[in-house]
Amino acid sequence: MNRYEAPLRDMRFTLFDVLGAEALYARLGFAGAQRDVMDAVLDEAARFTQTVLAPLNASGDAIGCAHNRETGAVSSPPGFIQAYQQFVEGGWNGLVAPEAFGGQGMPESFGVVLKEMIDAANLAWGNYPLLSHGATEALRHHGEPWQQDAFLRPIVEGRWTGTMCLTEPHCGTDLGLLKTKAVPDADGSYAISGTKIFITAGDHDLTDNIVHLVLARLPDAPAGTKGISTFIVPKVRVGRDGAAGERNGVRCGSIEHKMGIHGSATCVMNFDDAQGWLIGQPNKGLQVMFTMMNTARLAVGIQGLGLSDRAYQNALAYARDRLQMRSLSGAKFPDKPADPIIVHPDVRRMLLTCKALVEGGRMLSYHAATMVDVIERTDDADEKRRADELLGFLTPIVKACLTEWGVECTYHALQCFGGHGYIAEHGMEQLARDARITTLYEGTTGIQALDLLGRKIMQLQGAGLRHFIGMIEAFCAEHAGDERLAEFTGPLAAKAKEWQALTMEIGQRAVGNADEIGAASVDYLFYSGYVALAYWWARAVAAADAASSATDDIRTMKRETARFYFARILPRTLSHAAAIRTGAAPLLALDAALFDS
Ligand SMILES: Cc1cc2nc3c(=O)[nH]c(=O)nc-3n(C[C@H](O)[C@H](O)[C@H](O)COP(=O)(O)OP(=O)(O)OC[C@H]3O[C@@H](n4cnc5c(N)ncnc54)[C@H](O)[C@@H]3O)c2cc1C
Repeated sequence: MNRYEAPLRDMRFTLFDVLGAEALYARLGFAGAQRDVMDAVLDEAARFTQTVLAPLNASGDAIGCAHNRETGAVSSPPGFIQAYQQFVEGGWNGLVAPEAFGGQGMPESFGVVLKEMIDAANLAWGNYPLLSHGATEALRHHGEPWQQDAFLRPIVEGRWTGTMCLTEPHCGTDLGLLKTKAVPDADGSYAISGTKIFITAGDHDLTDNIVHLVLARLPDAPAGTKGISTFIVPKVRVGRDGAAGERNGVRCGSIEHKMGIHGSATCVMNFDDAQGWLIGQPNKGLQVMFTMMNTARLAVGIQGLGLSDRAYQNALAYARDRLQMRSLSGAKFPDKPADPIIVHPDVRRMLLTCKALVEGGRMLSYHAATMVDVIERTDDADEKRRADELLGFLTPIVKACLTEWGVECTYHALQCFGGHGYIAEHGMEQLARDARITTLYEGTTGIQALDLLGRKIMQLQGAGLRHFIGMIEAFCAEHAGDERLAEFTGPLAAKAKEWQALTMEIGQRAVGNADEIGAASVDYLFYSGYVALAYWWARAVAAADAASSATDDIRTMKRETARFYFARILPRTLSHAAAIRTGAAPLLALDAALFDS
């Protein structure tokens, strides 16, 4: 039996003690975000996810979704509909949506805590409401008033869900190749025709309508990404007055059989002269999609975090319980037939790696989400620009590192169970299978790395990196005389310098050869993620020391975990830096034709 208990204490520590969210929310004018209200909401979110969603995780995996070939209808696993109804009735769907559209207007970074719980409890179920959030953002920022009235409110209220329809059989990463067509109709709508594949929640039985946001080309559209427009295509037609009409020309052709997230329907969607409405400007569809994709990328990073934490929780409980061999330095529990495996250094290596990446990843991602709140609410143009640059810089790091660490942590946690992790009974292999998709969808790790190094660093002159390094320098300066933090601030300040130097080196090499960017990008992404986490671990130690709510046990726990992080994980940057410094030559020297010669 695989269990999940929301880590409320660490979530609160991160949000309130490390990030100072209470004061931030008050400054940004989130009237509903009072500490007592937030505490009550977190308790209730934990109850909902632990008692309603978590019990459906294993059965959803075993039973999966079903597709009716005759009607194209998709059924979700047993219990998913009822859980969704409870989710909507509890007001969870609109927690962070604007009040003007029926939401509760809570901060995005507060909603991320609920999101982590949902993903840890039941990732596959969480995929149904996941893209509603992105659709809400796209409609809010780019929709015409009638589109907002007709589509936004039902999505916020949870009566309908949203999807994101980008991928086609011949194009995933390279959206410039997409072929789906949009032909104008006399009434101002468009007839959409084409095939989209791998569409998460493309069809299901949780709601009676689904709002697809579809990328397609107008008849006169230029080739490539400059000719892409975005269309709202509902499963059931909706008039300008919001009235539901007949069934639209969109239908699920089949569902995919896949490695994990079996409870999440991954659909081939056939659009056959389906009625759609242009959202945003013609040929500027990627702007709309990026609004969706940016929130979705942070959200997928949180999926990695949630799965890592659940896997870690189960591995820790098992390691305390499972008796095998004696400690190398002599029996630690002589009254038992053998010591629990948590005494063995290698088991501790795996557990501590998970713990350090989970708690560090929580600080990194929650902080990135606070930038969304700042952008949304601040009146200060400088603060807004800075938050925007920082968020743009952090998004690929959160998405790619937290998901790659999700794969790593679920494997470490499985390994702690020995052979019992590989068999289905303990649910560890499901977590490892489910985690694997997160490094792929919403842009693969390689694509996040190119976004970070190619766009956010090289094209945009690294403004976000400068802000982050500024945060490190400010923290180190603030604690310059603090002996208790010196073991962290010293190495951290050195890493910040190395980070800048490495970035300059890559930039110089790339002047003569653009392949240098691609060759350095994934190592640079991980390097950045590990240095960023070092900053957050140093801050965690300082926050625990300062927090009146922290006990001595928590202070010791944070300090020792930070020490582990600096001693055993931060040195991974050495290997990434060395790989970066070899340049592109070792990757490109072998002719593609000779790989199998
Ligand atoms: C379960 C599941 C759910 C999904 N949900 C959705 C959804 O809801 N909506 C949607 O639109 N799509 C969805 N997708 C599609 C997903 O986003 C794509 O699979 C993903 O973006 C990668 O595209 P691809 O599979 O075509 O791989 P490709 O683009 O063919 O890439 C193959 C490999 O080449 C690498 N690569 C490609 N180009 C470059 C480059 N320029 N530089 C370096 N490396 C490169 C990639 O990193 C990857 O490793 C889903 C996929 C799955 C499996």
